[in-house]
Amino acid sequence: MASLRLKGVHAVVTGGGSGIGAAIASALAAEGVRLTLVGRTSQTLEKTAVELRAELACEVHTETADVADRQAVDAAFASARAEHGPIGILINNAGIASSGPFADISTETWRQTMAINLDALFHCSQAALPDLLAAPAGRIVTVASTAGVRGYAYIAPYVASKHGAIGLTRALAIEYARTPLTVNAICPGFTDTGIVETAVAKIQTATGRSAEQAAAELTRFNPQKRLIEPVEVADAATWLCLPASRSITGQTILVAGGEVM
Ligand code: NAP
Repeated sequence: MASLRLKGVHAVVTGGGSGIGAAIASALAAEGVRLTLVGRTSQTLEKTAVELRAELACEVHTETADVADRQAVDAAFASARAEHGPIGILINNAGIASSGPFADISTETWRQTMAINLDALFHCSQAALPDLLAAPAGRIVTVASTAGVRGYAYIAPYVASKHGAIGLTRALAIEYARTPLTVNAICPGFTDTGIVETAVAKIQTATGRSAEQAAAELTRFNPQKRLIEPVEVADAATWLCLPASRSITGQTILVAGGEVM
């Protein structure tokens, strides 16, 4: 049984229904938080909520909302607050990735990537801010990416949005350094989730390679030559949320097998 170091704290996890977000939700629940999972697809959220309640006997609330829509975020956070009380932890995890040559990227794809991967961090962080500042150990953890600290070909909007995510993290960490709120970013390398499954399928279609060869296109960036497991990212995020991590703020923590040293 975990030591429940975050017992009773209300944690909001965007994109908490799948992949890295679901893993973070599970790791935080094991420390005793009350959860709100936010995403656009209610079935995905509910499925994860049912699993978490069964496995960890935790309190899980779900909110169906598009984090790129400010009004929807404000309404979802107000409803989450009514359910579980003031928000003590915000995990900005929801994100999308699209790929293609820079010359072919449409304005719509560029805007959509910025709206979900960057604008949403502004909306969610601002919506939760009064609660986070009133909390004894408020936490914002943003799931950025190694694409926030280096470039990759064929994913220009993603790379630009994730660099922005790290910029916002650093700005907020300094602005709120005199309060108990800490603001950090986790930068996973390629991680074994739906986003990577889609990327592998796209490489296969474009190149005619096998699934293994296509996956190797992604694992080659990691010196350990493997995909990161979502639970590895979740453990790092949970550590940042602990009250004892109060001196760690404005950091970009790479969970990437040594990529970008
Ligand atoms: P995933 O399973 O596709 O998770 C993305 C989650 O975000 C989904 O639950 C999705 O739910 C939600 N989401 C997307 N757009 C949303 C919106 N507009 N409003 C609300 N929720 C939205 O992929 P993942 O790999 O776990 O990705 C999670 C985060 O990790 C992303 O920020 C991603 O950039 C980052 N990351 C992933 C990797 C990787 O290799 N997998 C590496 C580095 C960083 P709905 O579609 O139902 O809304």
